Amino acid sequence: MDKQRDFVLRTIEERGVKFIRLWFTDVVGTLKSVAIAPAEVEGAFGEGIGFDGSAIEGLTRTSESDLLAYPDPTTFQLLPWRGDVDPTARMFCDITTPDGEPAVADPRNVLKRTLEHAADRGFTFYTHPEIEFYLLKSSKIGKSGPQPVDAAGYFDNVPGGTAHDFRRRSVRMLEDLGISVEFSHHEAGPGQNEIDLRYADALTMADNVMTFRTVVKEVAIEQGVYATFMPKPFAEHPGSGMHTHLSLFEGEENAFYEPGAQYQLSKIGRQFIAGLLRHANEISAVTNQFVNSYKRIWGGGEAPSFVSWGHNNRSALVRVPLYKPTKGQSARVEYRGMDSAANPYLAFALLLAAGMKGIEEGYELPAEAQDDVWALTDGERRALGYAPLPTSLDHAIQYMEESELVAETLGEQVFSYVLANKREEWSGYRSQVTAFELERNLEIL
Ligand code: GLN
Ligand code: MG
Ligand code: MG
Ligand code: MG
Repeated sequence: MDKQRDFVLRTIEERGVKFIRLWFTDVVGTLKSVAIAPAEVEGAFGEGIGFDGSAIEGLTRTSESDLLAYPDPTTFQLLPWRGDVDPTARMFCDITTPDGEPAVADPRNVLKRTLEHAADRGFTFYTHPEIEFYLLKSSKIGKSGPQPVDAAGYFDNVPGGTAHDFRRRSVRMLEDLGISVEFSHHEAGPGQNEIDLRYADALTMADNVMTFRTVVKEVAIEQGVYATFMPKPFAEHPGSGMHTHLSLFEGEENAFYEPGAQYQLSKIGRQFIAGLLRHANEISAVTNQFVNSYKRIWGGGEAPSFVSWGHNNRSALVRVPLYKPTKGQSARVEYRGMDSAANPYLAFALLLAAGMKGIEEGYELPAEAQDDVWALTDGERRALGYAPLPTSLDHAIQYMEESELVAETLGEQVFSYVLANKREEWSGYRSQVTAFELERNLEIL
């Protein structure tokens, strides 16, 4: 740790860094940032930087509002979009109370705690998200709705297109920030893109997802366009998912890999999937946390709507991807439910907790979905045991309220803040009279 701190202080000096941004996240996953001067950094490592936690969604109650942010020196990076003039760097922070206790409501702390539980049982948790988003001409919504930057589709190569330059520039910046990118391509919707990050331990990855969103927004501004991670900006085009590949390692060994087993998937892997399936609806208000999230889940465009797993089946909620038999270390499961607007700290914590529950309780994995789950009738799905995912945020809240797993994993305070925040969103939505109702009802009633 001291070495890391020395490295940070030396780099600030050598590179002439003028501003150091301290980053952390509120319960809904909004990035918060406070810039400090170079002379303050040593003190921040030692004593933290004080701030008013009650002004941040879900962080404290007003009566206990003083909090401290301690920068994590291992996350120090120069921000490439700030350029060489007055260089700016950032570090992610851990939040504590004035007594030095980890703040119970810090999402990064929720994930750390959950990772420690898994580590006590010998597991390290890795994740690798595929992040989809739309590029729009502007954030302004015209009469005909949001305007995508192009009319291209899946894997299209758009000569001279915005998206091409955009992806190249974003990937370059991510690499400069120490974030490796595996794939990037145009997605199915007009203006829709996907960038897949190379796997990392879940804490690093949650930080990376926060950085990713900032990079994408910054590059968009630089190129005169607008990027949105909204789950379903267009009724008629696919939503933006954040399919995430999950794996557990025991030391150097991938715990999901078992040569000779079906799909080379170990018992631990099967139980982990069973946990994801059994708890999918309870964790949904976090993995799909907005009213709009359920427009994606129930709006087609290859988003999963039912709880099932499959091998090579894109209608399933959990997919076991193909990999070469020689590549046992890349054994993993893909959770396809989550969307691009989730708080990655809380969502990764709950996915891990659900999978671990499956392992600890020895859940049986139900039969895999061989068929296109969307094409079945309701009766067929019921007979096969493919339950629907929540149909609305309200529905998801009801599942979450009853969930011991979510309450335990998030801790009492985050649990009640997430619920309060989501109930407030739902009641705001419910009280709207929509264009749909006016069009359908006004003239004929
Ligand atoms: N956009 C789809 C979703 O929302 C995924 C499409 C794909 O990557 N095959 O989940
Ligand atoms: Mg993909
Ligand atoms: Mg995709
Ligand atoms: Mg995928």
